[in-house]
Amino acid sequence: MKISIEGVKSFIPEATIETLLEQEKNASKERIRDIIQKSLDKNRLDPDETAALLSVKDPELRQMILDGARKLKETIYGNRIVLFAPLYIGNECINDCTYCGFRISNTECERKTLTQQELIEETKALVDVGHKRLIMVYGEHPKYDAQYIKDTVETVYNTKHGNGEIRRVNINAAPLDVEGFRTVKSAGIGTYQIFQETYHQKTYEKLHPRGPKSSYLWRLDGLDRAMEAGIDDLGIGALMGLYDWRFEVMSLLYHTIHLEDKFGVGPHTISFPRIEPAIGTDFTLHPPYQVQDEDFKLLVAILRLSVPYTGLILTAREPIDIRNEVLNYGVSQIDAGSSIGVGDYSHKDEESRKKSQFVLGDTRSLDDVIFELADHGFIPSFCTSCYRAGRTGEHFMEFAVPGFVKRFCTPNALLTFAEYLYDYSSKRTLDAGLKLIDFEVGRIEDENMKESVIEKLENLKGGERDQFY
Ligand code: SAM
Ligand code: SF4
Repeated sequence: MKISIEGVKSFIPEATIETLLEQEKNASKERIRDIIQKSLDKNRLDPDETAALLSVKDPELRQMILDGARKLKETIYGNRIVLFAPLYIGNECINDCTYCGFRISNTECERKTLTQQELIEETKALVDVGHKRLIMVYGEHPKYDAQYIKDTVETVYNTKHGNGEIRRVNINAAPLDVEGFRTVKSAGIGTYQIFQETYHQKTYEKLHPRGPKSSYLWRLDGLDRAMEAGIDDLGIGALMGLYDWRFEVMSLLYHTIHLEDKFGVGPHTISFPRIEPAIGTDFTLHPPYQVQDEDFKLLVAILRLSVPYTGLILTAREPIDIRNEVLNYGVSQIDAGSSIGVGDYSHKDEESRKKSQFVLGDTRSLDDVIFELADHGFIPSFCTSCYRAGRTGEHFMEFAVPGFVKRFCTPNALLTFAEYLYDYSSKRTLDAGLKLIDFEVGRIEDENMKESVIEKLENLKGGERDQFY
């Protein structure tokens, strides 16, 4: 792969962002209310509006923003939460990202790449607890080239076990060239996710001193190349703690606008992980711009309001109490039952943490997470139907097509949840889950749809699988 940034220009207007954040410092209550209303009326916010939300200090206005995000989540998306698991394929890496346990200079990291057989075992272990959606994660190394990514994705798709199989694979890997993205696309991937880490170029260059990732522009242009290769299902993100979180949120908005303007479609998902401690990585103990919990909640709410039609992903990096709270502000996907050491799902041991990228805040099992979600009235969903039925841009349709959530998303969430309950759950989760499903079926307004869902639920009970709309 040849790294070339010829003709690539940054679309992050750093000076404008700083100016907007300064200018919008004292937005009035009326202005904040109008901005929230614009979002509730299903419009993406403009940068000055997001800057106004980001600059709010008054506790009353902060609460207004949180309430606005909660309302938007409830009215547009309802109470589904999509579940997935990360699957780490290899932690060998030629980059030296200051904050990452896998960086090349970290002598405390035990290097490992799954063999084909180990990959099959890891997949079976995930299938056996009920997972249907994965994100496969790779270090950056010549070994993990586009063909390798394609081959490993195919291995996962081809691994069936018991009643189950993985139905959607997303990717988190280094940016490729256009040809490489084409190769990976041909394996039938879902989302290709690349985080810019920090959009602040100087900070980026300081924290990525060597390897291909040291080029800010090569990475920033990564998703443009993916689009050129025909992958229009993309995930963007910033690692919170490297630079001012307000600047990163503004940049995520500018990245969204850039993709929309250039390709007519924005990112499918946005991620906003906070830095977690990593073995042999002192930097992670005191990140220079650590985001405090109260700011983190606001960050999620402001992203929800700024790009109301984009999926928001929250990972198990976060502790349980934060996870439970910010689910209400518009998060649409979470991972559960996650292990982030290479080979950990099938062989966890004392030494696992040496192969892990960082430490997780939420180590509950998938079944425990599902029980708690159901207990709080959320419908856990393993739905992969839009992607498999060729309905791309589903997140946008959920938002923009009237009745879409009622016609597809909620029924599919209920069906995939029921499938999980019958095949994998503990008794307490089964009881809580069936109760929730009964309640939710009762809420379906369209009688034909209600009947059809009841019929499909009966089919599932009778042993049929993979029912969806
Ligand atoms: N190597 C690829 C890359 O860098 O894009 C993909 C895999 S990398 C392991 C996935 C993401 O992990 C990175 O984009 C970064 O945001 C995140 N990450 C790295 N170190 C972290 C840490 N200490 N805490 C939380 N997230 C971290
Ligand atoms: Fe390698 Fe990715 Fe970690 Fe950087 S973040 S050291 S590229 S695995």
